Amino acid sequence: MSQKNPTIVWLRRDLRLRDNPALESAADSGAPLILLYVHGCEGDKWSPGAASQWWLHFSLEAFADSVDDKLWIRTAEPLAVLQNIIARTGADTVVWNRQYEPEMVARDKRIRKCLADDGIAVQSFNGAMCVEPWELETQKGDPYRVFTPYYRKWKERTFSEAEDEPPTLNLIADNETVKVGDLGLLPAIRWDRGFYNVWTPGEVGAHQALESFIESAIDDYEDGRDRPAVDGTSRMSPHLHFGEIAPWTVAQRCRSASDHAEPFVRELAWREFSRQMLFYFPSTTDTPLNDKFAEFPWHDDEDALQRWQKGQTGIPIVDAGMRELWTHGWMHNRVRMIVGSFLTKNLTQHWLHGARWFWDCLVDADLANNTQGWQWIAGCGADAAPYFRVFNPVLQAEKFDPKSEYIKRWVPELDKLSAKHARAPWEAPRTALEDAGIELGTDYPRPIVDLKKSREQALSAYSKVK
Ligand code: FAD
Repeated sequence: MSQKNPTIVWLRRDLRLRDNPALESAADSGAPLILLYVHGCEGDKWSPGAASQWWLHFSLEAFADSVDDKLWIRTAEPLAVLQNIIARTGADTVVWNRQYEPEMVARDKRIRKCLADDGIAVQSFNGAMCVEPWELETQKGDPYRVFTPYYRKWKERTFSEAEDEPPTLNLIADNETVKVGDLGLLPAIRWDRGFYNVWTPGEVGAHQALESFIESAIDDYEDGRDRPAVDGTSRMSPHLHFGEIAPWTVAQRCRSASDHAEPFVRELAWREFSRQMLFYFPSTTDTPLNDKFAEFPWHDDEDALQRWQKGQTGIPIVDAGMRELWTHGWMHNRVRMIVGSFLTKNLTQHWLHGARWFWDCLVDADLANNTQGWQWIAGCGADAAPYFRVFNPVLQAEKFDPKSEYIKRWVPELDKLSAKHARAPWEAPRTALEDAGIELGTDYPRPIVDLKKSREQALSAYSKVK
C-alpha cells in the first residue's frame, strides 16, 4: 500500500490534542503528520505581551511533551516556513484552526492563496468558538452590536460534540526544531515569580482548572463571580485564550455537571460576542466603536498613569487589583471594571493606556476580550456601560469585598484597619490610623484624586458626547 504524503497541522492558539478539529481531520486522513508551530507571527500591532509570552513558553513545553517532542518549532515568516517544509517532505496538505483577529485573518487569507497556487490543499476549521462570528446575524442581516439578543440566538445553537479521547497520531519527528527555551519567551528580570504557584499552562492544566471549578464553585457562580476575595470564577481565561481546551468542551462539561451552569456558560457567550465584534469591527482595537468618542478630551498625566499601573493611587480596591495583576498576571473581572472605570472616568485617561497595560501584564491578554472590556468600561464600545456610570470604588468595595479581605491581601499596609477604614483610609479618624500604625502619605498614599470632584468632571465631559 502506498504511503500518503504528509499533512502539516499548523498549530497556532490551539495547543491541545483533544477536541482539536484540524488535528482530528488530519489524523482521520491516515496521512503521516507534521505538527508545526511558527513563533512570532501573531501580528505586529498587538504582538503578545510579556505575561502572555510567559504563558506561551510553558504551554508550548507542555504540548511538546505531550507529543514526545515531535513538535516542529520554527521562527521565520510562516509562508516561507510552510513552503520550505513542503519542499523538504513532499507534504501536500496544510490544515489549521481559524483565528479571528484582523491581522490573523489577513495573514491566513494570503497564505491560503499562495499555497493553493502551488497546488497544496488547504483546509481550515473552527477550533476556537462554539458559534463562529458569521453564523449569527440580526433579522436585518447585520452583525449583533447588543449582547442580549446575540446571546438569545447563541444559546439555541448546537455545539460540536466533545471527544473523550485524543486521536491516534502518526507523527513525523524533526531534528531541526527550535527549542522552546531558545524562543526567549521568559523574562530576563524575574517579575514572574508570583506566576508559578497559581498557573499550570497546558492542556492538562486546563482540564484540571475546569474540574476544580466544577467541584468547588460552579453552583455558586452567579453570586461568587462578583467576589474578588473568593475563588468564585473558573480562571479558565488563559487556557481558553491559548486554545488549550475547546470552549464547547467547557460548556458541555459544565452543563452536564451542574444544573446551575448557565450563568457561567453565558460568559463564554460574552467571549464569542467580543470575537464577532472584533471580526466585524476590526478598527476597534485602536479606535472607539462609537465615533462620537473620537474627539473626547482625554487627559494625559504620566505620573497618575504610573501610579495606577503600580497600584499606588491611594484608592485601596484599585491598588489591590493593580497589584494582583502585576503579581499573578490576572485580575478578577469585577476589579477589572473598577480599575478601568477609575482610569477612564476619575482620571479621564484614554482607555488605550489601560488596554496596553493589561495587554502586557495579563496572562489571558486577548485582543477581542480586552478591546471590548476597555471600550465597554470607557463607555465607547458595543452595549457599553452608560456614560453616567462611574463606579464608586469605595461603594464597590463595600458591596463586593465587604470584609476588605481582598484589599488587605493585596494592600497589606492596611491590614490593621477595620474593613470600613481599609476601603477609604483617608476617611478614617486619626486615632484609627495611629492604632494601625499608618501615616497617610508615608505608609500608604493619599488618594491621587478626589473621587467626588473627579466624578463630576467626568460626567460633565462625558455628557458632551453622550
Ligand atoms: P469566568 O468568570 O470563569 O468566565 C469564564 C470565561 O468566560 C472566561 O475565561 C472568559 O473566556 C469568558 N469571559 C468572562 N467574562 C468575560 C467578559 N466580560 N468578556 C468576555 N469574555 C468573558 N478577558 C480575557 O480573557 N482577556 C482579556 O484581555 C480581558 N481583558 C479585560 C479588560 C477589561 C477592562 C475587562 C472589564 C474585562 C476583561 N476581560 C478579559 C474579561 C474578564 O474580565 C475575564 O475574561 C475574566 O475575568 C477571566 O477570569 P475567569 O476565567 O475566571 O472568568
